[in-house]
Amino acid sequence: MNKKEIIDILKAENTEGVLIKADTIRRKYCGNIVHLRALIEFSNFCKKQCVYCGINSKIKNVIRYRLSENEIIETAKKASELGFKTVVLQSGEDDFFGTKKMCSIIEKIKELNVALTLSLGEKTKEEYKAYKNSGADRYLLRIETTDEKLYKKMHPNADFKNRIKCLYNLKELGYETGSGILIGLPEQTVDSIADDILFFKKLNADMIGLGPLITHKETLLKNYPCGSFELALKALAITRILMPNINIPATTAMETLLKEGRKIALKSGANVVMPNITPEIAKENYSIYPNKQGINALDKIELENLKNEIISIGDTISNDYGTSKNFIAQKHL
Ligand code: SF4
Repeated sequence: MNKKEIIDILKAENTEGVLIKADTIRRKYCGNIVHLRALIEFSNFCKKQCVYCGINSKIKNVIRYRLSENEIIETAKKASELGFKTVVLQSGEDDFFGTKKMCSIIEKIKELNVALTLSLGEKTKEEYKAYKNSGADRYLLRIETTDEKLYKKMHPNADFKNRIKCLYNLKELGYETGSGILIGLPEQTVDSIADDILFFKKLNADMIGLGPLITHKETLLKNYPCGSFELALKALAITRILMPNINIPATTAMETLLKEGRKIALKSGANVVMPNITPEIAKENYSIYPNKQGINALDKIELENLKNEIISIGDTISNDYGTSKNFIAQKHL
């Protein structure tokens, strides 16, 4: 698919055929299997000012929290006991968790025999290397948009080139590397979304998350409309067709924007769901966008319902680490 073909699909009204094709490709290359990842949002302190984000450093009306090292490890233990094979540690860009502290947490979580994904934002190559040496397997760093002008508008005081460099550093260090974008940013065009998708391919990303923008009332985008679910779904399906063996989550933002959005995404190329296992009191304040509809993995009924939903669309729940097939293929090269 070239850029023009991608744009044509993004603009098209009836794309059912593309969604079916993405589903067929996912099942052929990744199997009828969905991977569950336990998400722990361990700190909502952040030094960045992403204009769409409800926990950016400028937002005053948010209760800031940090889980202690012990709380993070105990939560990861719970995830492992519940049968999760992957733990995802996510936070704002919070310097409180220096390299030594993070490495200690990583080492302890790795003793639980789970794969570990980090999503801590931009760090130096040395920091990424230290995390990797401590046992971290995967890293998520969304580019959000590859349109440099738009990136600068959405991310004051941030360096677009550094973000790209971080992604290549992660690849070079041998991380299973994830990126992704927000769909529906002000002034974003289908042309730029097509460039984003081609960038994923160029990076040879192992995981891609695409989520519609959901505007937050405390941010500068409060009067701006949310992103389009349909457009996000089309971008997801195209990404699956172009990158058959990567992992693609059905993002929480999709479920938030549309009832059954997760299920629709899983039938259009996605193969991962990330239930939230953050202790309730902290989770309420990890409000990048409002009314997040994620699964609460600590609630047995919610978790069971999720599993039944997955089974109802002809999938089974993975019982392995769910390493991206794209990543495995590179290791075997
Ligand atoms: S999107 Fe992430 S890096 Fe940006 S302000 Fe929010 S938490 Fe911080």
